[in-house]
Amino acid sequence: MTNKKINKKDIGKLLNEWSQEFTVFAPSRETGAAILAKWDGKDTSFLDWYRNTITPAKAGFFPPSEKIFSFRKESNSYQIEPPSDEHKQLFFGIRPCDARALAILDMTFKDAYEDPYYLSKRNNTILVGLGCTNPYDSCFCTSTGISPAESRDVDIMLTDIGDQFLMEAITDKGKRLLDSTGRLEEASEADEARAKEVKEVSYQKVTRRIDTKDIEKKLLACFEDEDYWEKAAAKCISCGVCTFLCPTCYCFDINDELVKNQGARFRSWDSCAFTIYTKMPMENPREEKWKRVRQKVCHKYEFYPMNFGVIACTGCGRCIRQCPVNWDITQVLDKLPAKVQLK
Ligand code: SF4
Ligand code: SF4
Repeated sequence: MTNKKINKKDIGKLLNEWSQEFTVFAPSRETGAAILAKWDGKDTSFLDWYRNTITPAKAGFFPPSEKIFSFRKESNSYQIEPPSDEHKQLFFGIRPCDARALAILDMTFKDAYEDPYYLSKRNNTILVGLGCTNPYDSCFCTSTGISPAESRDVDIMLTDIGDQFLMEAITDKGKRLLDSTGRLEEASEADEARAKEVKEVSYQKVTRRIDTKDIEKKLLACFEDEDYWEKAAAKCISCGVCTFLCPTCYCFDINDELVKNQGARFRSWDSCAFTIYTKMPMENPREEKWKRVRQKVCHKYEFYPMNFGVIACTGCGRCIRQCPVNWDITQVLDKLPAKVQLK
């Protein structure tokens, strides 16, 4: 299929057209913080300022706190009311790193138990990616196999080619939507060539790099090196910000709230960085901070690859940008003990 293109000044009209069928989410500023929020029907100023959101797109599928059902207590039983949340949504402007993070989360939420809350939202969502042409110096996505302006994890991918965006249909769902959308022009060979150039330049703009070769084996080899992990964890204050904002972290806890006979069950984000993590069912098996920091790093770079064959980090850099004490996962990975003997 030939790719399409659209003038940047027509993006508002495009989002309005898509709003007839979907609840459209687009980059927005809420008290200064960039988030993906329900589009207000007119503001496209994000095209000028948007780099990435602070809260990752995972919040649209696995919200910080979600009512998973309501219940009514009767004399000998409970009546359960499941939620009816089947609306179609479209995320406009998702970055390739965050789209990859959703593909990584899918593996967990489809694994031994298929999570209906997460999966119903995923199945009802169209992802429209926007290539990243101005990465932060904390981004290191290229080290995790991601290109900032290309993605196979979205339905439609947009590339900034000047006054216009090139629009590529990546999935059948994306192709159907592009085919049914008005006001799009066919892209020319010159547009394709310009998009290719933009993608290559964007790739080169990501200058922070880590060496992920044999990272799993290196972490396995230094797992018991308490001295190393003590030093790596020294300045962390266990606030949990890095895990809440990480697009691939998915720990949660479950709470019931009951007032008289009416109640609801909520699922809310939790963090392995917290001292009280898992205190509800048992004691925290990682009382010491260095063990919690080790868990966060090893889960992404050792355990997830062992279980699913992929690193559970997209190099989005949020944990570096938002950490209040400048803890930096790339430094921790770069300084893994050299004594490690790899077989
Ligand atoms: S954001 Fe920084 S201080 Fe807070 S838990 Fe993460 S590494 Fe530790
Ligand atoms: S560990 Fe840090 S860089 Fe990697 S995906 Fe999570 S927030 Fe992004």
